[in-house]
Amino acid sequence: MNKGHREVGVGRDMAVAAIVERIDLCPACHGSESTLKPWAVKHGRAIVKCRRCGLVAVNPQPSEEETRRIYNSEDYFQGSGFTRFGYRDYEGIAEMKRLTFNRWLKILERYVHPDNLLDVGCGTGILMQVAQTRGWRVTGLDISAYAVERTAARGYEVRQGDVVTADFQEASFRVVTMLDVVEHLRDPVRHLGIVSRLLSAGGIVMIVTPDAGSLSARLLGRDWPHVKPMEHLWLFTQRALISLLERAGFEMLWIGRVTKVVTLRGLGTDLRESHPWICAVLRVIQGIAPILTNKALPLPLGEMMALARTRTGT
Ligand SMILES: [Zn+2]
Repeated sequence: MNKGHREVGVGRDMAVAAIVERIDLCPACHGSESTLKPWAVKHGRAIVKCRRCGLVAVNPQPSEEETRRIYNSEDYFQGSGFTRFGYRDYEGIAEMKRLTFNRWLKILERYVHPDNLLDVGCGTGILMQVAQTRGWRVTGLDISAYAVERTAARGYEVRQGDVVTADFQEASFRVVTMLDVVEHLRDPVRHLGIVSRLLSAGGIVMIVTPDAGSLSARLLGRDWPHVKPMEHLWLFTQRALISLLERAGFEMLWIGRVTKVVTLRGLGTDLRESHPWICAVLRVIQGIAPILTNKALPLPLGEMMALARTRTGT
């Protein structure tokens, strides 16, 4: 089943190459016997869970062709609220992202002063914009031609592809950021291994991804919105993410839950088509208390952040 795609791991780990079709070993904790047990079926896809580290995985994985079709369409970004609503509304959502990224970069900057940064999965460049205003020199990378075009049009240095294909020079970045990226990667250990080589000695990778051990994940189970088998090939618990980073050659600096900043204005735009009644309620609230319209509300929405650095010496 699902023989359509093959990916030859660059000899790092043959077990990793084997996971790209049907997964027999947990890519995070890599148990010696199979620890992956059936967990759910959603959108016609079987999903398994690792008994040891809690990783959730689509098994077998969607083919490369299937996933490529999703990311190459403009709709992917429109669906995330990037452009569908025209400039004025887009700004409401962009503002929520800017406020959120500011908070996240502050956590990173406890460990490293602004230097140069590669944002993998940069989308339309909002993190790059925020980081630049905080003193970082920024470079972007995204597999979507549409996203790259938008980011380049804003004057940023950006390449199309992923870390495997982009051909950046080794040891050329102090920090690599991957926000909502690792759960999409077909072979996360391989990608993180390459990231570790792109980083200078002691360089830091910053990962933000849904936390499969969060309260919302545990309460909602397969109905948790992040359980999206065609896009999210994996969902990590903190334990799974630590194992993954260590297997890829990193040592942990920090891991924890992080909040996303929401404003009523941005939320109204984001939910206008999917939840019109919520938007109606939001408009009433804004009518009564206009001061709340742009108030930043940090909410725990089931995301975690990990900061890890390349091992220096042995
Ligand atoms: Zn595991």
